Amino acid sequence: MRPWEMNIRRVVPYVPGDQPAGDKLIKLNTNENPYPPAPGVERALREMDADRLRKYPDPSSAELVTALAEYYGVGEDQVFVGVGSDDVIAMSFLTFFNSQKKVLFPDITYSFYKVWADLYRIPYETPALDENMAIRPLDYKRENGGIIFPNPNAPTGLYMPLDQVEEIVKANQDVIVIVDEAYIDFAGPSARELLPVYDNLLVVQTFSKSRSMAGVRIGFALGSPALIKALNDVKYSYNSYTMNLPSQIAGTQAVKDRAYFEETRAKIMATRERSKKRFAELGFTFPGSMTNFILVTHERVPARAIFDALKKEQIYVRYFNAPRLDNSLRVSIGTDEEMDDLFRFLEQYLKEWKPAGDSE
Ligand code: PMP
Repeated sequence: MRPWEMNIRRVVPYVPGDQPAGDKLIKLNTNENPYPPAPGVERALREMDADRLRKYPDPSSAELVTALAEYYGVGEDQVFVGVGSDDVIAMSFLTFFNSQKKVLFPDITYSFYKVWADLYRIPYETPALDENMAIRPLDYKRENGGIIFPNPNAPTGLYMPLDQVEEIVKANQDVIVIVDEAYIDFAGPSARELLPVYDNLLVVQTFSKSRSMAGVRIGFALGSPALIKALNDVKYSYNSYTMNLPSQIAGTQAVKDRAYFEETRAKIMATRERSKKRFAELGFTFPGSMTNFILVTHERVPARAIFDALKKEQIYVRYFNAPRLDNSLRVSIGTDEEMDDLFRFLEQYLKEWKPAGDSE
């Protein structure tokens, strides 16, 4: 080993889902939205004067912050924006999880949490989900250095009712509690409603799912002015110009189109409910998803075999080689047509499937 190698910060990185190229494929592996962004987004980007790119963007992303503050009925000093919620959450780990005590997050959850904790040398503990894959609020009533969990959780898709979220926040007013609401627009009430009562609560959301803009990379946090200031202080100690100008323009337009947002998220929820029925008819079980994906397990056929067969058909879903998940597939909700293609293939495949070595 060369001496300098001892000084390298070694981490096991997060592995994002595949982004295969081609237009024939059906991509249900990274929880993207199958519908285009709001029409105003395309218009605004087309009309953007490229000369504006000569200058640095507004480091505070003020237009976008104002649009979000108006939309969610909070003060501008209660909004922090970042380059995807990954950026917002990474910044939050750095800012708020800064004690020797262990941070808590579920054992089965967004796998990036563990990566950030390792990167920043934050100690952590991961309470196990219960037998139905739900988060147990009781596990979060112990001494800790902070708490983060997604609601709904990923990849289970399960939504925790707001009174249970409040129970966790209320019991932990000496630390920061982060609720990662990447999928909340497909579920129920947001923890945003608790912000007037709890100044230790940070609610993080994203434009990547319900607003159809994973490619533009916008995430945001809502919280008390003290938390937002702390986040901004760390951001400005790291990189002032996190969000580029086209993203600021596109994001602002997306927030302004409430009707389009309501229409597309309703379409996805309807397709999800229809898909649940079809999965059940085909012999799959799943936790009751309140997101734009379903974590399915077949009664007979191993997940890995289904995953490989789907991939050959150019249908991409997500497989996690991890304890309690390795016989499940996470299937994002596409359009009705895409889901119909998936179910048509599955119906035939499952009918014909036999265990290896089982010849007639
Ligand atoms: N949180 C959860 C629970 C997620 O599933 C994702 C999507 N991978 C993210 C955060 C990050 O999303 P983005 O950075 O695109 O906002």
